[in-house]
Amino acid sequence: MTGKQEWIRNAVGGQFVDPDGGRGVDNVDPATGRVIARVHVADEHLVDRAVGAANRSLHTWSRTPVRERADVLRRAARRIEERFAEFVAAEVADTGKPIRLARELDVPRAIANFRAFADIVSAAGEQAFFTDLPLGRQALNYTVRKPLGVVAVIVPWNLPLLLLTWKVAPALACGNTVVVKPSELTPSTAVLLAEVLSEAGLPAGAYNVVHGDGSTGATLTGHRGIDGVTFTGSSATGSKVMTTVASRVRPVSFELGGKNAAIVFDDVDVEEAVAGLSRSVFTNTGQVCLCTERVYVQRNVFDDVAAALADRARALRPGHPFDETTTTGPLISREHRRKVLDYFALAETAGATVLVGGGVPDLGPELAGGAWIEPTLWTGLNNADRAVREEIFGPVAALVPFDSEREVIGLANDTDYGLAASIWTNDLRRGHRVAQAMHVGMAWINTWFLRDLRSPFGGMGLSGIGREGGAASLHFYTEPTNVCVQL
Ligand code: NDP
Repeated sequence: MTGKQEWIRNAVGGQFVDPDGGRGVDNVDPATGRVIARVHVADEHLVDRAVGAANRSLHTWSRTPVRERADVLRRAARRIEERFAEFVAAEVADTGKPIRLARELDVPRAIANFRAFADIVSAAGEQAFFTDLPLGRQALNYTVRKPLGVVAVIVPWNLPLLLLTWKVAPALACGNTVVVKPSELTPSTAVLLAEVLSEAGLPAGAYNVVHGDGSTGATLTGHRGIDGVTFTGSSATGSKVMTTVASRVRPVSFELGGKNAAIVFDDVDVEEAVAGLSRSVFTNTGQVCLCTERVYVQRNVFDDVAAALADRARALRPGHPFDETTTTGPLISREHRRKVLDYFALAETAGATVLVGGGVPDLGPELAGGAWIEPTLWTGLNNADRAVREEIFGPVAALVPFDSEREVIGLANDTDYGLAASIWTNDLRRGHRVAQAMHVGMAWINTWFLRDLRSPFGGMGLSGIGREGGAASLHFYTEPTNVCVQL
């Protein structure tokens, strides 16, 4: 298959579909505001064709031996490596993220996702054991895990390829077929992946792409031919997807929003801790679900931490994403910037002191149409303020002082979300104690976003349902059948 960029096309049953007068939306470069391509929006009929193709392909792919499925995944990883520059360029053009970030994080993680799940699925054995049942009978008791079926994969725009492959790799590894809907804002790498998977030997129809906005997503998740839904996105959309799926009682895996806390104790080396903390606030212009938006700092190092973090924010270099010296990009769209700026206004009305940032930078005429925003830090807010309670999804954090360990555990857990936390301390016993007390799916000590792909990923509360990663992915993407034979 080949996919040309003028129209970003849907991929159905192993073919790219020509738009043929169909509806399109603009694909906009977030750094400049220029239109770089048109995205062909999949209508109901096309979604139906994609689900049908995935259903037909399921018969072959689910019966393909695990070893061969793992080989396809490894070949896909190799093909992404061979076409590395193309994937990086497409991801940067769609998202506006600095090229260094796409090269160091997004595309390498996509490759790692395929390799990791090839290994994980190969290592997973079926369980079989002899057992004494309660009534004194002996039995051979075992469980087989079978593919879930046709999986709808819906992903957002912030880490398009990384999050897509995080779901597609295990889904395919387990013998499922997929229909994916990328964000309409970042459709390109999902299409490149269709080429790569076809080159790697995946049967036609096992990986399908349908483009469009939320209504395409709703058509897909509501389709009768879908056996499960894996979704990454905002909590509000997650709730809508749940409603759509509820009437047919299909399994869902939800990786949703966050309002993540960092806790900085006074025993840290301030420069060292702030280097990590700064990454956790500003990476990808704060548009990572794991990013820190609440920073609780022990009172006697509060001023030092605030000053050092503000220095880091000032040192970030906005610029053209393809410029090697750029270290921070724009937000994904001007619409999203409107939302972030509304929170800036809310914070100031609530009495925030703006340590740094707070507005829109002037980067000259070339970038004037982009969705640029200043990295921003506030003091003077508390947990009652909306800017400290609601997910903003931008390069922004509120710094709040605390006195004791007990107090800060209460403050950090005082949220409807429960995705991630980071704890910065040189007292490892305290680090473990506090990490375990956090109501989150993931806690880091003296680091952030360091991930072993065999570990469970996900959150609690408004941050999601279920976990993916390692064995958790194998569980979500398969259904167990227990067989018990009396001996
Ligand atoms: P959205 O929830 O707006 O969108 C996510 C995806 O769902 C997009 O592809 C979107 O399409 C689609 N969609 C929208 N409405 C529906 C619907 N009714 N039915 C089915 N699909 C629909 O999130 P964003 O794209 O704005 O992404 C940012 C959010 O994602 C943040 O809240 C962030 O925290 C979260 N996120 C969570 C992660 C995690 O692992 N926990 C990781 C990364 C991000 P379209 O955009 O084309 O309208």
